[in-house]
Amino acid sequence: MVSDAILKVEHLSKYFTVNLAGRKMTLKAVDDVSFEVPKGATLGIVGESGSGKTTLLRTIALLYTPTSGRITFNGEVIFDSDKRIMKRQYVRGLISMVYQDPESELNPTMRIIDIVAEPLEALRVPRDEALRRAEEAIREVGLSSDILLKRPLQLSGGQKQRVAVARAIVTNPLMVLLDEPTSNLDVVVQAGILNLLLDLQKTYNLTYILVTHNLAVAQYMSDYLAVFYTGRMYEWLPATDEPKHPYAKALADAFPTPDPFNRKILNIEIKGEVPSMLSLPSGCTFHPRCPYAMDVCREKAPQLKSIGNGHLVACHLY
Ligand code: SF4
Repeated sequence: MVSDAILKVEHLSKYFTVNLAGRKMTLKAVDDVSFEVPKGATLGIVGESGSGKTTLLRTIALLYTPTSGRITFNGEVIFDSDKRIMKRQYVRGLISMVYQDPESELNPTMRIIDIVAEPLEALRVPRDEALRRAEEAIREVGLSSDILLKRPLQLSGGQKQRVAVARAIVTNPLMVLLDEPTSNLDVVVQAGILNLLLDLQKTYNLTYILVTHNLAVAQYMSDYLAVFYTGRMYEWLPATDEPKHPYAKALADAFPTPDPFNRKILNIEIKGEVPSMLSLPSGCTFHPRCPYAMDVCREKAPQLKSIGNGHLVACHLY
């Protein structure tokens, strides 16, 4: 374990049982995933829809009960399937989340000040103190006090997402899980929210896990990147490294946004769509879409291997 890791995830899996026409099937949304995140760092998790990114965040926050594995957060084992440990109470207030769609998170009937104060009241912080801290958090995310008594419907998309960020930081968390926090916003507003998140991280030494399908956003924000496909982690790399896995290279090509690292276009085009999680291809689950697929790829699942500089790739090409 790296000495300053705030989060250590070991062999974490989250399976769902799905009833399909009377037949029970297992959906492996997160499958045997291990990684560590140092305190104050950002891990960007990238992949297409259906790659298990959001389920991974919810499982780390213990909003879903993991199927197996172990999670250590802030030096405390918060989940261990072997030892039957599950500490939901411990993570409340210390891990918070910002969702893709603030509409679903912000109760339209409540005033903004009450929405932001709500997580503190859930932690039994006295109301006066909760309101004072909520007002402070609202100022910190760059909103004026004019909005305190407004309802979410009276705010713009960017303002709503700032309220969601205020709600996430109001409990003084150690780690914030960001689930596609800017994908519903236009580019200018998106840049404002991303820069706000970077400022808050510096001020409070926050650790972030950022889920996004946009590799360029992940690279801009992150210290480390994890590439997910069909619930499995296929690559882990320092964000300053070039991605090596064919899927990660294709994701890099898919976003023609200005690249902060001036990467060349790698010309990897992938065909088809993410397969159904209920009938995954054998071996490397990416093989039906991979332009480099070999016989071994259909037969044997590649394991993560170190290629130096803390960079891991699961691909038979390496
Ligand atoms: Fe492509 Fe084979 Fe590598 Fe999978 S293991 S990404 S199919 S080359």
